[in-house]
Amino acid sequence: MRILVTNDDGYAAEGLRVLAEAMEEIGEVVVVAPEREKSATGRALTLGHPLRLRAHRENWYSVDDGTPTDCVNMAFHSVMAERPPDLIVSGINRGSNLGDDVTYSGTVGAAFEATMHFLPALAFSQQIVSGRDYSEDVSRSAGQAGEIVRGLIGEDGSMLPNLLLNVNFPAVPSQGLRWTRLGKRFYEQSIVKRQDPSNKTYYWISGTPRWESSEGTDHAAVVAGYTAVTPLHLDLTDDEALDAETPARQHLRHLESSGLPG
Ligand code: MN
Repeated sequence: MRILVTNDDGYAAEGLRVLAEAMEEIGEVVVVAPEREKSATGRALTLGHPLRLRAHRENWYSVDDGTPTDCVNMAFHSVMAERPPDLIVSGINRGSNLGDDVTYSGTVGAAFEATMHFLPALAFSQQIVSGRDYSEDVSRSAGQAGEIVRGLIGEDGSMLPNLLLNVNFPAVPSQGLRWTRLGKRFYEQSIVKRQDPSNKTYYWISGTPRWESSEGTDHAAVVAGYTAVTPLHLDLTDDEALDAETPARQHLRHLESSGLPG
């Protein structure tokens, strides 16, 4: 099995190293990861300037100024073009990627991109709790990532098809695995406004996440000390709204048959 490992924290991140090591026990690993941290870049694709590939050692590359999605494409169409990957794993991200945050996440973005190439993908993220030893926690989680990937290998030795899983590890030793849905977050997102030394105003996006505490969500599972596994799909269509007489549908009904003026 050929496994592409990427992330959004950059090629030198500890979470990537321990994940790559865990995957090396399962298959042949190729790392293609951003040169610098690209957290919260979602599925951003670089189109305005060229990308440069840097080889650090055998099967270990970074993409200068590349996003996670750039890296998946660079791997698929260049680095691994002759023998494409059978699986893409992303992470282990330094920090949770739960609920509504998944569309911000570059870690999850790389996994979404894998589906464009019809490849199974898993995104892994590590909860951080202050006072705990991150290195210890993320190493333990890498072992669990290996267990999860092994568990998804079918009898014919290949990965199960149509996999797009978002996995979040708790900071504490995991109580086990929970199959979850995305949680709902109320981001008390604020913008901090300050003055720099030359009296120019600058802004910093900040905020404290507040979560709706409902059973069955990824957030609830991680808070309870479980590893949350959330199946995702890239299709954002609201199927319920598609079939229902929503106010929006009613308001636009007259344009469905008359043709749009203008
Ligand atoms: Mn990150």
